[in-house]
Amino acid sequence: MRKFDAIIIGTGQAGPPLASSMAKNGKKVAIIEKSELGGTCVNTGCTPTKAYVASARRAFIAKNSREMGVSIEGEVNVDLKKIKARKDKLISDSHEGLEKMFENEKNISLIGGKAVFVDNHTIQVNGEKLSAEKIFINVGGRPRIPENFKDVNYLTNRTMLELEEIPENLVIAGGGYVGLEFGQMFSRFGSKVTILERGTQLMKKEDDDIAEAITGIIKDSGIKVLLNSNCIKGTQREGEIVLTYDCEEGAKEIKTPHLLLAAGRVPNTDDLGLENTGVKMDEKGFIKVNDQLQTTVSHIWALGDCNGEGGFTHTAYNDYQIVNSHLSEEKKRKLSDRFLCYAAYIDPPLARVGLNEKQIKEKGIKAKVAEMQMKNVARAKEKGETSGKLKIFIEAETDKILGAIFLGTGADEFIHTVLDQMYAGASYKVMRDAIHIHPTVSELIPTMLENLKDL
Ligand SMILES: Cc1cc2nc3c(=O)[nH]c(=O)nc-3n(C[C@H](O)[C@H](O)[C@H](O)COP(=O)(O)OP(=O)(O)OC[C@H]3O[C@@H](n4cnc5c(N)ncnc54)[C@H](O)[C@@H]3O)c2cc1C
Repeated sequence: MRKFDAIIIGTGQAGPPLASSMAKNGKKVAIIEKSELGGTCVNTGCTPTKAYVASARRAFIAKNSREMGVSIEGEVNVDLKKIKARKDKLISDSHEGLEKMFENEKNISLIGGKAVFVDNHTIQVNGEKLSAEKIFINVGGRPRIPENFKDVNYLTNRTMLELEEIPENLVIAGGGYVGLEFGQMFSRFGSKVTILERGTQLMKKEDDDIAEAITGIIKDSGIKVLLNSNCIKGTQREGEIVLTYDCEEGAKEIKTPHLLLAAGRVPNTDDLGLENTGVKMDEKGFIKVNDQLQTTVSHIWALGDCNGEGGFTHTAYNDYQIVNSHLSEEKKRKLSDRFLCYAAYIDPPLARVGLNEKQIKEKGIKAKVAEMQMKNVARAKEKGETSGKLKIFIEAETDKILGAIFLGTGADEFIHTVLDQMYAGASYKVMRDAIHIHPTVSELIPTMLENLKDL
């Protein structure tokens, strides 16, 4: 049996940097991958979708700049084959980078195949058994396919990105960020898009006013939004899918050849042989971890989407940083030090850090709020992009920033001014008293903070 100092399962966002760091520290590492190098983000997640979002924005601008004094004579054509080819090149560049990194490090053995645990120290791959002192699980997740759709020819984030023709009609089941990003981009490419969401609002975790503003943005993109679409069911009929929704008798019906399921994700932990180990999962299949990301077996760690502690590329990468700090760095990091932060790449984007109003109220924290509508921001007016709003929450007793929600042009970038102050543990007064550059959206942050109201 081949023996290693460490075995890493999965080449997503945490596995490769961890392999590289351990190899540089003289450890013999095996990293096992059953599919494409780079995992979800590189192949079917962030990279390809954000490349498509960029093409969709160009198409939108080309078609909608008349009021800014710019018009295009003739038709604006969208070539999905070209958009896909550009995306495929970005992906193959990433694959090459990873391949080179693995090839150049003699302490790393990259093994293609599906890893299954035999016991707490042993992994089986391609019929071969490997053992290691330490094992790191970085297996990510996959789309959740609800029972009611198992028998229809649905699309997922993976197959959407393989299409070479723009669908005339696209129905999306799920009003989370994946559904909205695909919805807006394909609407901008020219599809007639309908989003079915079973909840009462899009982006169910967001505050009501933010969800309402997002719904406005999505509807203004020409997308039909059907909220409260409960009991959604799909039946395959020749070339099309018949979708019924609404639990009442005489349920409503939509027919579409193209249905994207964006109904959440499940961890890839069900076929990993974890029953042969002492590693415990929660009821949703996420691996239970402590503050250092150790599982219930202390020499096995779980990083990235499979531990249910993040669900983003930056959280998976931060998981690597946490684990690596305990293996080889002086300053130890902890999961509990992390602030929640993410963006949804609709246009304009939504960016979040820390707590929102719902969460602050649930926790019973006494707080103040600063708010600003984007239509009152000079830079937004100049750009002709005035949808959205900004909110920042301050803890009344400590003056510390509890969180911020920015929905508006450039929000995915300027949210970091708040995020860094939160990491610094600074009073909001530091930002209130700072000078920001004119004309930017960020320049309004100090002004907002001069006008706090009780939440
Ligand atoms: C459409 C979409 C858009 C997204 N956009 C963003 C975004 O803009 N920003 C953001 O931060 N996040 C985004 N995400 C989320 C992001 O992609 C994930 O959070 C991130 O990829 C998680 O990384 P990971 O390392 O945990 O797992 P993954 O990247 O999923 O990697 C896991 C790897 O493990 C391999 N594997 C699984 N089981 C085994 C096994 N038994 N043996 C061997 N190998 C195995 C898999 O093949 C895979 O390569 C998006 C996701 C989707 C679906």
